[in-house]
Amino acid sequence: MSKPHIIAVPFPAQGHVMPLMEFSQCLAHQDFKVTFVNTEHIHKQVMNALADESHIRNDHIHLVSIPDGLEPGEGRNGPAMLFEATQAVMHKNLEELIEKINKGEDERISCLIADDSCGWALEVARKMKIARVVAFWPSAAATLVLNLSIPKLIHEGIINNDGTVLKYQMVQLGPKMPTIKSTNFVWACTGNSSTQKILFQFMEGTNKNVKLVDRLVCNSAYELEPAAFALEPQILPIGPLLASRRLGNSAGSLWPPDSTCLKWLDEQPPCSVIYVAFGSTTIFYQTQFQELALALELSNRPFLWVVRPDICDNPLYPEGYQDRLGSRGLMVSWAPQQKVLAHPSIACFISHCGWNSTMEGISNGIPFLCWPYFADQFIDESYICDVWKVGLRFDKNESGIITRGEIKNKVEKLLDDEDFRARALKLKEMAMTNVNEGGQSNKIFKSFIEWIKS
Ligand code: UDP
Repeated sequence: MSKPHIIAVPFPAQGHVMPLMEFSQCLAHQDFKVTFVNTEHIHKQVMNALADESHIRNDHIHLVSIPDGLEPGEGRNGPAMLFEATQAVMHKNLEELIEKINKGEDERISCLIADDSCGWALEVARKMKIARVVAFWPSAAATLVLNLSIPKLIHEGIINNDGTVLKYQMVQLGPKMPTIKSTNFVWACTGNSSTQKILFQFMEGTNKNVKLVDRLVCNSAYELEPAAFALEPQILPIGPLLASRRLGNSAGSLWPPDSTCLKWLDEQPPCSVIYVAFGSTTIFYQTQFQELALALELSNRPFLWVVRPDICDNPLYPEGYQDRLGSRGLMVSWAPQQKVLAHPSIACFISHCGWNSTMEGISNGIPFLCWPYFADQFIDESYICDVWKVGLRFDKNESGIITRGEIKNKVEKLLDDEDFRARALKLKEMAMTNVNEGGQSNKIFKSFIEWIKS
């Protein structure tokens, strides 16, 4: 009998490609065929990072690509530029790809799963009358609740029609929901004011996308965010995806991970290492970079720090830094993060609080020190510090710097208080229960499978 054929379309950024690839792997294990469509630019990076790892293809995932409408040398880091380019040309490219698949020898596409940020892909699915259309939400359900609350926020005069913040206040969209400053709304804390307006329009667009689809699935668990799921019951939790496929390999990395750090971790005592990583896009000023470097030196503990080559205009370490550290500190340009966080030597995670990093830390029972920059990271920080109480936030000084003293103190406060680790382990158990046989995410996933097969 032929396998149901799913086409999966991520938004072209690391934090979106990776979880949709994980979801696709879960589906491939259920005997579906998955065609995974990246932009040409991302596809090249994924293939390059995969190098000798053939597990994705073994999983019956077919990796293909379509052009994103930008020239090869054009910058792709700004979300606003990506949103505009992808919307302008990619729907036509996707339509042609689906037509080609449907005319060929492969099974016809019977389901499209696209990132909720890719409204153009969902529209193509509707236009081409694909039987099942699914939006995938790779962030917290609370972030989608915030988007869906835009009309209410406008009505209450907290923002105006273009998203500009009018009232500076703490906002909590319901009891037990994370609390954030209005100036930290996803669209309000990213880039300059014109970028913010484009982002805001985009967020409003994602709200329309929710209405285009048959199902809306989210990489989270009911028990992690009960208040958000109660406010928007159409969002179906199927995560944390990492936990559901704990024994598998991670996939969809855009850079080859430096696995030598795993050997170094093997040499460290249990629960001793500070892991420091800020995801794929955050940028540091030189002063802040040096302050963090000195803080890690002051901490007197082993640390593993991901220093992406583009993390700072000029990532200069303080003079004599590496010599003074010796083997106590290791810097790598990209880590196999999921394996790192699962390593018994890890004591805590200094993180920018991207949702994937948050889920990966949670799934391994690791306490956090939170250093959010923009987008949904402030919502995730509030979950970690205020709702789940498995981490601490850093405070900036009057010049907007997180000082070495502040970092050192918070590391000590977190690691000296065993309650943080105890709560983190409980949260891990909860996450695992959700994805294990009989758990809520597991049940939703199974009924999702039945629905696609039906
Ligand atoms: N990641 C990784 N190696 C690194 C840093 C990050 O593999 O050195 C992965 C991490 O495991 C996560 C993703 O990159 O799955 C980053 O996603 P997240 O949502 O945390 O942050 P974003 O990059 O979207 O800001």
